[in-house]
Amino acid sequence: MVTELPWDEKTGTLRRDLAAGMMNPACKHALEAALQIKEKFSAKITVITMGPAAAGEVLREAMALGADEAILICDRLLAGSDTFATSLILKEAIKKKCPKFDLILCGAYTADSETAQVGPQLAEELDLPAAAYIEKLEIHGRTLRVRRLVDNFRETLEMEFPALVTVSMENYKPRYASLAGLEKAFQGNEIVVLNAKALGINSSLMEEKGPRTKVRKVFLKKSHKENVLIQGAASYAVTEFLDKYQGKIGTVIGKSIEAKKLNEEEA
Ligand SMILES: Cc1cc2nc3c(=O)[nH]c(=O)nc-3n(C[C@H](O)[C@H](O)[C@H](O)COP(=O)(O)OP(=O)(O)OC[C@H]3O[C@@H](n4cnc5c(N)ncnc54)[C@H](O)[C@@H]3O)c2cc1C
Repeated sequence: MVTELPWDEKTGTLRRDLAAGMMNPACKHALEAALQIKEKFSAKITVITMGPAAAGEVLREAMALGADEAILICDRLLAGSDTFATSLILKEAIKKKCPKFDLILCGAYTADSETAQVGPQLAEELDLPAAAYIEKLEIHGRTLRVRRLVDNFRETLEMEFPALVTVSMENYKPRYASLAGLEKAFQGNEIVVLNAKALGINSSLMEEKGPRTKVRKVFLKKSHKENVLIQGAASYAVTEFLDKYQGKIGTVIGKSIEAKKLNEEEA
């Protein structure tokens, strides 16, 4: 849970030096979907992440599972990036290092802030057709058919390559790394490390197009239950109830309730 993570109260950012690194759970499912495509169509998988040097471990894990190439975007200048800045930075890396891609697969959301924004924003930046929260995909020639669950409806969409999807955690159960995979990840391919300069990003660009959001505080909202007995005639009880709680109810339903006015109109 996000509130259990170590936060720096001053900067509103995660203390990544104290938090144990791990591959984002939804990204594991996206990687599994990519691996299944590779097995069927002999595709090449490039995994990309942005983070401090330690984030390289996650890329090694992805290579141990079967990714062919790994890119780590690493630079202090990029720390504190929100989803907007992150998608811009990822776009630059993709344009520079793998411009001829067919499909970008992202985890549907992160386990820490759960915004689910980076994938769709990246599609917008790269001007790609996209579908979020997909649970199944099929490839027919240059057409991608995806199934997603949205508002309790199952939707099937088709789009042409190149495209972007974000993968939910319904299917594509992540596999375990094999011993041969681990050997390959640590003895074979090197991780390509890109800094901000390599991506053509400098501090003035970060100021202009960098993070738009600021986390001021992360806390768990406290709530409590209480039984309240209002005695008297029904109209009195309703008025009394609304007098006491209309502010709270209004916040929940997004409307202001004017108890007295309602009562007067009824009379
Ligand atoms: C509850 C919650 C809700 C949020 N809602 C939104 C929202 O609606 N919209 C939105 O845009 N954002 C949202 N955020 C994201 C928030 O704005 C960012 O979390 C914030 O800007 C700082 O992120 P961080 O603490 O992860 O900082 P950092 O630890 O600095 O991480 C931010 C990013 O920078 C990367 N990074 C860190 N160090 C380096 C380095 N040396 N080199 C390269 N990359 C690095 C990280 O991997 C990460 O991708 C939300 C966050 C929380 C906790």
